[in-house]
Amino acid sequence: AIKGVIKQYKTAPQSALISRLNPIIRGWSNYYSAVVSKETFIKLDNAIWQMLRAWTVSRCEKASHEKLRNYFRHETIKLSNGKERHENWLFQTKDGLHLFKHNWTPIVRHTLIRPDATPYDGNWTYWASRKGRAIDTPNRVAKLLKKQKGRCTWCGQFFTPSDLIEVDHIVPRSHGGKDEYKNLQLLHRHCHDDKTALDEEMMLYS
Ligand SMILES: [Zn+2]
Repeated sequence: AIKGVIKQYKTAPQSALISRLNPIIRGWSNYYSAVVSKETFIKLDNAIWQMLRAWTVSRCEKASHEKLRNYFRHETIKLSNGKERHENWLFQTKDGLHLFKHNWTPIVRHTLIRPDATPYDGNWTYWASRKGRAIDTPNRVAKLLKKQKGRCTWCGQFFTPSDLIEVDHIVPRSHGGKDEYKNLQLLHRHCHDDKTALDEEMMLYS
């Protein structure tokens, strides 16, 4: 997504590029603030910064500190939680239009446990015989349930009898992840979908 846009806007004005990128970054930040860590946001911002630096260099005949400073500026940003953040190299136009950064969005943690939930109770056989979308051996599911103490590693909630559970490759197989226990985890089906979307998005960003 981001990578393609930057490429597409290779010769466009800086303001056009920023206006195009901001809604993507904002939307992504809001959507994922409940599930990813601060480190993920910082990593994404760094990756984007590298791409924008390359974008800037490609349009300067000879890149210099002064030339870069026409595109990157010092700015103090007021965050939504009232805190201030000083940015040393913020991608910003002369007129003050600046790029939004993922890590300005506070990470939200949902700690609510549904009152009707009957958490996983240690009955391995019952739980292991349940199936999600991925066909899996009950033994493998039982092992993972035990390791995760009955909780989904994505949202942190206990699995309940009404949940659909799936086996996920922590490092996706398409990224070279292996089909072995230390690379497997159990997730709710909807959490699995979120994670897969994030995995794909991360691949586009990087
Ligand atoms: Zn979950």
